[in-house]
Formats: sequence, structure tokens, C-alpha cells
Amino acid sequence: MENQIIQSEKLAVIGRLAAGISHEIKNPLAIINQSAFMVKRRIQKLCSNVDNIDSILESIERIERNVIRATDIIERLLNFSKPYYTKAEKVNLREVIEEAIKLAILQAQKSNISFSKKLMDAYIKGDKNALIQLFINLILNAIEAIENKGKITIKIVPLKREGNVKVVIKDTGKGIPEEIMDKIFEPFFTTKEKGTGLGLAVSYRIVQDHGGKMLVNSKEGEGTEFILIFPTYNEEEGE
Ligand code: ADP
Ligand code: MG
Repeated sequence: MENQIIQSEKLAVIGRLAAGISHEIKNPLAIINQSAFMVKRRIQKLCSNVDNIDSILESIERIERNVIRATDIIERLLNFSKPYYTKAEKVNLREVIEEAIKLAILQAQKSNISFSKKLMDAYIKGDKNALIQLFINLILNAIEAIENKGKITIKIVPLKREGNVKVVIKDTGKGIPEEIMDKIFEPFFTTKEKGTGLGLAVSYRIVQDHGGKMLVNSKEGEGTEFILIFPTYNEEEGE
């Protein structure tokens, strides 16, 4: 039963991924098509007017740029569909979070962002590198949301009775507008000029693959918090 649920969630993710991909690739392809048409027309004109050579080269370069863009999108899709982790080891979330902060600290300092940590040892079963990636994604988003000067709070809260552990990552950034809340986990959804829109899609999947849940609360102009809940490592069963 549980497997079925996980499977259908995976299919839903793949479906959204496919929708995101076709939307993203249509763009560069439309430009390629249009540029090829312009080249054709300009070459026809060139037969009578040699000055046109710059605009022909420009169209050819546009074709090249957009072939690269489409290739890049396909490549990211291939990376996305690879399994994220294979290991199922006992991992200390405190170490994972310390490591992710270390990797993002320079970026944070550049924007005058301080970290406030309330961490404790908390063990889950999974892949350390995938989990570091997850926290880097969330921390980088927090840094980008703050832009300049602010605070990122990261807390580990044991929920012993339920056999879970909760991690809260809170920022004092610009917040997420209500109307895009249901899109932020979609692959390729981004509001950033140079964003990939894959950070949260990948993060969601890593959390899911660890049997966890991810929730988000946000208020425009005040900040955002991501809440992650993972089942804790079970010493007796080794899981
Ligand atoms: P990217 O960072 O490349 O845009 P993500 O999947 O990481 O892609 O995030 C998707 C979108 O969700 C972002 O473009 C941004 O609009 C929103 N978002 C994610 N995290 C935050 C945050 N901490 N504060 C405000 N907005 C956020
Ligand atoms: Mg991101």
C-alpha cells in the first residue's frame, strides 16, 4: 500500500517534470525556427545586397545560442531523472546541516546574512551527500530571498513521541507570494532571472526518498520557513 502511494507520487512528479520540460524547450525551439526563417530570407536578399551580412550572422548566432539552451535543458532533465542517492546509512542531521552551512557561508557573508543555529544530534537513515544537497538548496534560496542583510535560522526539533525529527529553516527574506505557492516545487518554476527552478523540485524528491515531508509557510515582506519532518533512525531495526 505504502509503495503504491510512493509510486503514484513519483508518477505525478514525472508528469509535472514532462510538462515543465516541454514548456521550456518550446521556447528556444521557437526562436531557432524563427531565426532559421530570417536567415533564409536574408540570404535570398543577399543575392542583391551584400551589406546584409551582419544581420545574417546575428541570426545564425541566435540559432546556435538556442540550440545550446535546448541541449542544456535536456541535460538537466537527464540529471534530474537519475536517482539521487543509493546509500542508506545512519546520518547525523546536525553534521549534515553544519556541512551545508560551511559550503554556503561565503555566499551568505557577501550579503550580510548571519546564521542562528539550534542544533542537536539527530539520526536518520539515508544518504549524507543527498541530504547536504537538500540543505544547500534551501539555504541558497534563503540567501537569494534576503538579497542584502538578514538572518537564517536553522533548528532541529526532536519529535520523540512520534519517532520523528523536525528541521526548520527560516529566513527574513522577501517571502513567497500567495499566488505562486502551489508552483514553487514544480521543476523549472523560477522567479529568478538566472534561476533553474530545480532546487525545490530536487529537494522535495530528496525529502520524499528519505520517507520525509516538506512544508512551507511564508508571508510576503516578512520571510519564509521550510519545515522538514523525517522518521528517526531506529537503533533496533537498523533503520
Ligand atoms: P530557483 O532558486 O532556481 O529559482 P527553486 O526551485 O530553488 O528554483 O525555487 C523556486 C522558486 O521558489 C524561486 O524562484 C522563488 O521564487 C521561490 N522560493 C524558494 N525558496 C524561497 C525562499 N526561501 N524565499 C522566497 N522565495 C523562495
Ligand atoms: Mg534555488
